Amino acid sequence: MAKLISDILEQNNFSRQDIIQLLNANAEDTKNIFRKAKDIKRKYIGNKVYFRGLIEFSNICSKDCLYCGIRKSNQNVERYNISDENILRAAKFAYENDYGSIVIQGGELRNKAFVNRIDNLLKEIKRITNNKIGITLSLGEQSEETYKRWFDSGAHRYLLRIEASNKELYYKIHPNTDIHSFDERIKCLSRLSRVGYQTGTGVMIGLPFQTTEDLADDLLFFKSMDIDMIGMGPYIEHKDTPLYAYKDFLMPLKERFTLSLKMIAILRIMQKDINIAAATALQAIDPIGREKAIEIGANIIMPNITPPSYRANYRLYENKPCIDENEEDCVNCIEMRIKLINGEIGYGKWGDSKHYFKRHLKEELH
Ligand code: SAM
Ligand code: SF4
Repeated sequence: MAKLISDILEQNNFSRQDIIQLLNANAEDTKNIFRKAKDIKRKYIGNKVYFRGLIEFSNICSKDCLYCGIRKSNQNVERYNISDENILRAAKFAYENDYGSIVIQGGELRNKAFVNRIDNLLKEIKRITNNKIGITLSLGEQSEETYKRWFDSGAHRYLLRIEASNKELYYKIHPNTDIHSFDERIKCLSRLSRVGYQTGTGVMIGLPFQTTEDLADDLLFFKSMDIDMIGMGPYIEHKDTPLYAYKDFLMPLKERFTLSLKMIAILRIMQKDINIAAATALQAIDPIGREKAIEIGANIIMPNITPPSYRANYRLYENKPCIDENEEDCVNCIEMRIKLINGEIGYGKWGDSKHYFKRHLKEELH
């Protein structure tokens, strides 16, 4: 028999069935889920929101994910690779404006020249920011040796979404070839933790073929992997990708948005001390989507500091926001938005995952 949502919210641990029920909750019950998540966030995390200045430094990718607008086979994209000089300028901008941290994100390449380039950039960014800026990388699957090299050169957080924790679903949204391996992706998450990164993952919400059961399993997967940070948001179709063929079978954007907020709120209740990012894709659906996510559980936001002339070519999905703004506009706009929801920006701070430090202490004691 189904439980009352209020009874589920009283529990310390959610079963798979509980999570499914929470994800299916009606509008009235959803308000209670959000209220509970808000309380938990206030108690364990506080109202601070931390910046990660996002540098989308290249859209050249060796992979062909079936949902992504910059996949290798998409011929309708003008490929770019921002010069080292401009990347360093963006990192300096983040440092001088007290962002605390940056994220370096781009297409996945594994060749030697690429690995060396990132390594040199990391050292240079640390040097020009007096070792003060925190660096998150999001550059896909790499060998343990590469992860270690980049860690030793100054990166300390890494974001690698599992995209879908159900292996079958994973292969419906990735071509089943050597370079798209679910098992390799799981191994990469373990490698990242072993090397010492604060490890982040996440999924897209509202994918074709995805069920509520899959989403419940995604949340349980994050917990079982002892993940430190999560970035998850709605899947948004892109017309130049193979998954676009399923656009008529998707749930409406508004529902995808609400489901994404529910996922964030339930996760906050389940994992009180992790960092949760308010994904940019939320804003592609609702102009104040990221702020709504912060209100109910997220504590990280990624203002885009990619030089504006490149942004239009990092179009992962339709309606990607902030393509026409410059760096200053972007931060002024976010600052105002965070204030409106009574949040406070943790200027100049790394805003690391509390969970990471607890995890390490536990490991040291064993
Ligand atoms: N190449 C790296 C990787 O895949 O991990 C980092 C860059 S990739 C563009 C960053 C994230 O964009 C992916 O993890 C994926 O979840 C998200 N993304 C790609 N296409 C998307 C879409 N159509 N809708 C929503 N998110 C998307
Ligand atoms: Fe490349 Fe990442 Fe897009 Fe996949 S999601 S095609 S790895 S940029």
